[in-house]
Amino acid sequence: MLDVDPQLLLGRLAAGRDDRLLHVEQVPARTGTAVGWPDWVEPELRDAWTRAGIALPWAHQAAAADLAHDGAHVVVATGTASGKSLAYLMPALTSVLEGTRAPNGRGATALYLAPTKALAHDQWRSVAELGLDALRVSAYDGDTPDEEREWIRQHAGYVLSNPDLLHRSMLPGHARWASFLRALRYVVVDECHVYRGVFGSHVGNVLRRLQRVCARYGSTPTFVLASATAGDPAGSASRLLGLPVVAVDDDASPRGATSFALWEPPLTDHGGENDAPTRRTATAETASLLTDLVVEGARTLAFVRSRRGAEAVAMTARDTLAEVDPDLVGRVAAYRAGYLPEERRALEDALRSGELLGVAATNALELGVDVTGLDAVLLCGWPGTRASLWQQAGRAGRSRRDALAVLVARDDPLDTYLVHHPEAVFGAGVEATVCDPTNPYVLGPHLCAAASELPLTEDDLPMFGDGARDVVEALVVRGLLRVRPGGWFWTRPERASDLADLRGIGGGMVRVVEDETGRLLGTVDPGAAHSTVHTGAVYVHQGATYLVDHLDLEDSVALAHREDVDWTTSARDTTDIRIVDELARTAWGDAELVHGHVEVTNQVVAYLKRRYLTGQVLGEEPLDLPPRHLRTQAVWWTVTPEMLAAASLTDADVPGAAHAAEHASIGLLPLVATCDRWDIGGVSTALHEDTGRMTVFVYDGHPGGAGFAERGYAAARTWLTATRDAIASCECRDGCPSCVQSPKCGNGNEPLDKPGAVRLLDVLLAGAPDVLLAGAPEVSLG
Ligand SMILES: [Zn+2]
Ligand SMILES: [Zn+2]
Repeated sequence: MLDVDPQLLLGRLAAGRDDRLLHVEQVPARTGTAVGWPDWVEPELRDAWTRAGIALPWAHQAAAADLAHDGAHVVVATGTASGKSLAYLMPALTSVLEGTRAPNGRGATALYLAPTKALAHDQWRSVAELGLDALRVSAYDGDTPDEEREWIRQHAGYVLSNPDLLHRSMLPGHARWASFLRALRYVVVDECHVYRGVFGSHVGNVLRRLQRVCARYGSTPTFVLASATAGDPAGSASRLLGLPVVAVDDDASPRGATSFALWEPPLTDHGGENDAPTRRTATAETASLLTDLVVEGARTLAFVRSRRGAEAVAMTARDTLAEVDPDLVGRVAAYRAGYLPEERRALEDALRSGELLGVAATNALELGVDVTGLDAVLLCGWPGTRASLWQQAGRAGRSRRDALAVLVARDDPLDTYLVHHPEAVFGAGVEATVCDPTNPYVLGPHLCAAASELPLTEDDLPMFGDGARDVVEALVVRGLLRVRPGGWFWTRPERASDLADLRGIGGGMVRVVEDETGRLLGTVDPGAAHSTVHTGAVYVHQGATYLVDHLDLEDSVALAHREDVDWTTSARDTTDIRIVDELARTAWGDAELVHGHVEVTNQVVAYLKRRYLTGQVLGEEPLDLPPRHLRTQAVWWTVTPEMLAAASLTDADVPGAAHAAEHASIGLLPLVATCDRWDIGGVSTALHEDTGRMTVFVYDGHPGGAGFAERGYAAARTWLTATRDAIASCECRDGCPSCVQSPKCGNGNEPLDKPGAVRLLDVLLAGAPDVLLAGAPEVSLG
């Protein structure tokens, strides 16, 4: 156990480099509020939990459980380690136990859904450990042996699974699940904040299909959702389910105080693109901090976004420790997705016991894994949302002990903005989770799947949203559905559920295959294939690097070979955009702000090689790939020639100013929408033929849109004000990765006019109303 105060520890980390420590937020401790067990909880269960060390539930657990027990759909949205599982287990397991007294021995069942198999298995273990055999608890997923499947369908009371299994197996084969579905009382949707964007839109439709199939068997299960702390949890959960949902978000569990530091790595001598200054990478900086904390004896978890980054942090820390204190080398490890369950558990145990002092992990560890009571958490780069930030930081300081958390900024506009604006990190509520299950590109395949499960009728359409009728009619025209007197039918020989890929879109994933062995290394979304697995691309699998020898577009396969390289690749592309229609528009003085549909034409034309650790550019290679078309949603703004003149922008200045403003605004959109910059794209033009003005577009990178551009429109003033401030406050002179340079720019970050972008955004924002856009919720930045 650590015997130094987190603030003293931070003081030692910052010694001699306190210019990197930009802010320390003291997050106060909270005392818990326990209440009595609800009187309807089965005594056997209560006793089992008491034996497991839970004396009494916290107030939020009991409140959510009572609501669900009364039949309300409920979402419990509270912090890490606040015991969300007890909230849904009380009603779900009570009803399953009561059901064992029914004449058939199975009067009630419950279904638990987790976003990953690993989490479902962890949950299975914790329920099985209660030792109540009557519950008949089973995990059911793609790995479940055939001989167990039939038993589970006929006898299990509490089944733990995932949305993919529901989509591919349980719903299409619902007749085999008839007795389970007939008795279904509760459906638990765990970690529901993960269901955002296109993935969330898919899962929303799967849950609608489940409701429809249940109705066929006469059951109307109560949904209990568990979420990380999130903005508007009731609204997000309602959108996901298509049902009204009540939120319980008043966290009544106790926790220690946290000292939360914002940390910016220093500038280096390495020149980046166009000789821009670059910062020491967050990976290298995190490795240094991890080393120092391990030397101090602090049990530390470092969250790193990529597998490769996690391995680099662990490896660098070990290399440094080898020189400082060789005894400590074996006490640092990497942890990432792809490990076997036994390997994961061994690492978790070693971290818990203190045998391991430092672990660098990918976000795989963010989900529900039981690692508690750490002394410090390092976040290598902004984790994407404030919700993830708190979830990751919450790994430290459980058990009412005080803890340290450090956010290390990456060299990009969003991270830089955030570490210089603590109020945007700590003063604001967490984001709402965004998804759009009515997106026709997502909805179409699910309506086919629904029709193949049970003929689709007029009465079914409302649950799928206002646009469902148009989508159904389009499916009829395409010959996918047939109209018959009893409704719309799926009559084709193939499986309708194969049309939708929950974790991608558009089907036809591109396979990445090792040349020599024919081994499948992974799959890539077809929308991303041109830019990530083109000939010459570096592809990373399980921490190892592969070079792509050939991308075969006809067969949707990229052939690669194993090779250790110390560079990464990034694609160069050209993009054109055409306005299809407008959904909403507002005037900011003479400027216009619009949300609508667009068609984006994109062609990858070359790629750039960069040194992995420093980002230094090594060279550029041309590529010959066909253009691709994307129909999606965008938010765009236009200004008049008079406004450009008022900003002192000449014709020659406008392209660079607009381009710089576009880049920074893409970097900052994740501040108001739960996306990351790779989910969205942008185009800027001094004169767009559809608007007749200078126009900057930011669009969703997924067919049909994922709700991100819509969110940018709704929170435009907050978003573009932050964009302006991020550029203006950057200490560079001509633009750098912390403000207006983009790692995915199709034009090699040329031209960029940093001061021009600030003046352009100033004239745009001068016309922005002080009040919110009518009907549009805006995220407060405190
Ligand atoms: Zn800069
Ligand atoms: Zn660009």
